[in-house]
Amino acid sequence: MAKKQKYIFVTGGVLSGVGKGVTAASIGAVLQAKGVKVSIQKCDPYLNVDAGLLNPREHGECFVTRDGAETDLDLGHYERFLDIELTQKSATLAGRLLFDLLNDERAGKFEGQTVQLVPHLTKSIQNAILESAETGDSDIHIVEIGGTVGDYEGLSFVEAIREFSQRVGRQNCLFVHVVYVPFICTSKEFKTKPAQNALKDLRGFGIFPDAVVVRTDTPAPAGIAKKISLFGGVPEENVLLMPNADTVYRVPLILAESQLSNLLSDFSGNDKEPDLSAWKTIVKRQTSKPNKLVTVGLVAKYIDNEDTYMSIVEALKSAAWREKVALKLKWINAEIATKNDFKSVDAIVVPGGFGKRGIEGKIDAARYALDNDVPYLGICLGLQAAVIASARKAGLKAAHSTEFMPESKQDVVYIMNGQAGKESTGGTLRLGDYAAKLQKGSLVAKTYGYLDIIERHRHRYEVNQKFLAEINKGGLIVSGLSPDGKLVEYIEAPKNKYFVATQAHPEFRSRPTKPHPLFIGLIKAAVK
Ligand code: GLN
Repeated sequence: MAKKQKYIFVTGGVLSGVGKGVTAASIGAVLQAKGVKVSIQKCDPYLNVDAGLLNPREHGECFVTRDGAETDLDLGHYERFLDIELTQKSATLAGRLLFDLLNDERAGKFEGQTVQLVPHLTKSIQNAILESAETGDSDIHIVEIGGTVGDYEGLSFVEAIREFSQRVGRQNCLFVHVVYVPFICTSKEFKTKPAQNALKDLRGFGIFPDAVVVRTDTPAPAGIAKKISLFGGVPEENVLLMPNADTVYRVPLILAESQLSNLLSDFSGNDKEPDLSAWKTIVKRQTSKPNKLVTVGLVAKYIDNEDTYMSIVEALKSAAWREKVALKLKWINAEIATKNDFKSVDAIVVPGGFGKRGIEGKIDAARYALDNDVPYLGICLGLQAAVIASARKAGLKAAHSTEFMPESKQDVVYIMNGQAGKESTGGTLRLGDYAAKLQKGSLVAKTYGYLDIIERHRHRYEVNQKFLAEINKGGLIVSGLSPDGKLVEYIEAPKNKYFVATQAHPEFRSRPTKPHPLFIGLIKAAVK
């Protein structure tokens, strides 16, 4: 029989986007630091089947798991905070559950029953939670419910976790509600009313929270916790005031020092002092005086929402902390980028992307870096842009990717036979972990320190090796291939000090405690 697991449910009130994901991840981190084994899952109530087709401007980055799930960016927080690799089962979307439910209905599996949100969808949600928990071999399974309690679309999820607590025993569940308390500038006071209402809503659905995390922009007086405790029916020691922190990686430390850690000890049955040395080191690295400042230009399509490139930004930051340098990110709008933009930075990153908009600016950025020996890291589309730049430099003036110019005869980036997917449909990309073999003696091999690589992927187009001679002539060599030699996974410019690109997404495996070597390599080169 599977071991008895416990569950922590993290819900949100008042509004979303105030750090529920970081709270859930930090609770996990504190438990982990005590030696408790944790697993974690995000449930999203919207009707998409996965996050693959969601607009990154609105939703932030699409995070990819090793088994190829296209998920919400909160899974990235979880992986970075807990240093674990999540799977498809860690991301539960209402759309997927409904899709399966309707397929079962069509397949006649309900034998004439009326299929309803309650009990059928709520049962599906509960099963998804159980299945996710079972894959983790954990003592405690954390479940974050996306959105805000009271949203129409989330009602089934709230009902499902209430039923779930009955099913596994209320004593085996801990409910944590994250609320937002605004500060009103004109009257200079914090207002708890929306939070009180949010707690009332939650109770109205039959969930009496064990703890409340109160998010504020600036530190709030203790009276706020008292008030929320009184009106929310939660003991005052379980109400944690959580103002914005200087870094999200301080949140586990704040949690561990608060009274909530007693609740976590009681609940987990583990009263060991958490070993937070790793978190202290990270925070210290971030807050200690850096030796130098490096400016990294991120040549991007979405420059108004940092969340769109969350994992890349986190990977750059972690590498900079490790190298004891201050990082200045310069957002360069790929659509209007000029040489002056590229000139003003110490290193250039061209991140992944889809669609034509801004592609010429990305190719120009790669060309500038190639010609002027500016440290360059190309990620996925950033590799493709570099290959196009190199081929054009070698004289293939019309070199392109068929993603942007389908009729191109100089299709240095193309869809390989047998890899074609339908352009606008979800789940048809090359997704998740794939292996690569690096060329001995190459810069990427030296940077990684080994030759056999596994990285996550999310792309459809490949480098067309028919044009290898031109690509080489422009200054790039292929330094890593898929094990069968068919797919280009890494390229570099041997004449430059650090010009590296990969078809993969190394940012997803970077951790604050273990920055990814390719990002460290970039920062090191930028410092020089
Ligand atoms: N659009 C490119 C492709 O599909 C690159 C994808 C990416 O950068 N993630 O191959």
